[in-house]
Amino acid sequence: MQAVLKWMREHYNRDADMLHKFGTSRNVVAMSADGILPTRNFREGSSNTPKRSAARPCRNDPDDEGTCYACAIACKREVDVQELGVTARYGGPEYETIAAGGSVCGVGDLKAIAKFHQLCGEYVMDTISVGMTIAFAMECAEQGILTSADTDGLALRFGDAEALVAMTEKIGRREGFGDVLALGAERAAAKIGRGAEQFVLTVKKQEIPMHEARGKQGLALAYATAPGGADHVRGPHDPIYEGFHPRGAHALEPLGLAEPVKRLELSPHKVRAYQYASHWWTLCSCLGVCTLAAAPVDAVGVTLVTNAMRAVTGWTPACGSWSRWASVRRRWLASSIAGRLHAERRPTAEAPARGIHRWPLTGVRVEPETFQRALRLYHQMEGWDPRPDGRRSPS
Ligand code: SF4
Repeated sequence: MQAVLKWMREHYNRDADMLHKFGTSRNVVAMSADGILPTRNFREGSSNTPKRSAARPCRNDPDDEGTCYACAIACKREVDVQELGVTARYGGPEYETIAAGGSVCGVGDLKAIAKFHQLCGEYVMDTISVGMTIAFAMECAEQGILTSADTDGLALRFGDAEALVAMTEKIGRREGFGDVLALGAERAAAKIGRGAEQFVLTVKKQEIPMHEARGKQGLALAYATAPGGADHVRGPHDPIYEGFHPRGAHALEPLGLAEPVKRLELSPHKVRAYQYASHWWTLCSCLGVCTLAAAPVDAVGVTLVTNAMRAVTGWTPACGSWSRWASVRRRWLASSIAGRLHAERRPTAEAPARGIHRWPLTGVRVEPETFQRALRLYHQMEGWDPRPDGRRSPS
């Protein structure tokens, strides 16, 4: 095991790693340019506002770097905003939080986003769910479904940083209208009524994370099939299958994923890539390997993990990449069964629909027939009944 760790230390080049240099917030500008930055409750895919948001946490100042225990990558950026009482004790907003409190609510004020991040930390709330639920309420307000009389006098407008921070605090305290939004977007919509449900973006009542499934279509499958609802860390994202990343698709060649697959397709090739790669990330999750550090995103590759598992378990060299599948599949099966226990309330496969998207992906969507075909194939590959509810096959 020492040898494996030594290999990692010697081969990880911090200075060449964009993740170390800029943190996950580097994604904000790149995703906006690609048209896949969730903006104003997923109506749009790009925004001018995050450029300012991205600049500060991207600053490569060693004093701002934070890390999880013993991680050499140190991708975190700690933020301190004295006038708002934001301290580095709560770390700092990474990509998901910058988008959830920022572009998805139309907000570009990084200091307000840092406050939003800290409030969510103080009240132990998920920033994605809170940001998406407030964005849902902002769209309801824009459509006239909610007025300031419903929202304790707050005008919930896209782009209103003060309203974002004030409503986050109310949700944390379950105070006034915050008590309704604390239910999450789907249950809040049921309580509000008046057609509010058409502006909800959830899978299995879980708010969609800050990744656009119309622009990364394998992700539609991930959101629909993850046991806990929309989950952006079920597997690597589609640009990686194109060889987009410097380490690229080649990092997954030991799994048989050598051919590039386009991000805007949901073909059988994509289903296979997602299925193999999602099991690889499930294995990393079982082992405590951060998905940001794992291939194909970063340095911890398939061979290194195989060697580490042999070193720790004493398994023989015959234990190759594919023979680890059994342990991964047991974990996957267990979490899927746990999901099934709530099947009446949580159908196993669904995907939200939302049609509006501005340049550069205008008109791009996941066709329902293509999605259903991909879902059937995925269920077959997993040994599940190919029907959309994904029940375990009796055979
Ligand atoms: S473990 Fe992951 S999230 Fe934590 S510092 Fe390392 S790369 Fe970043």
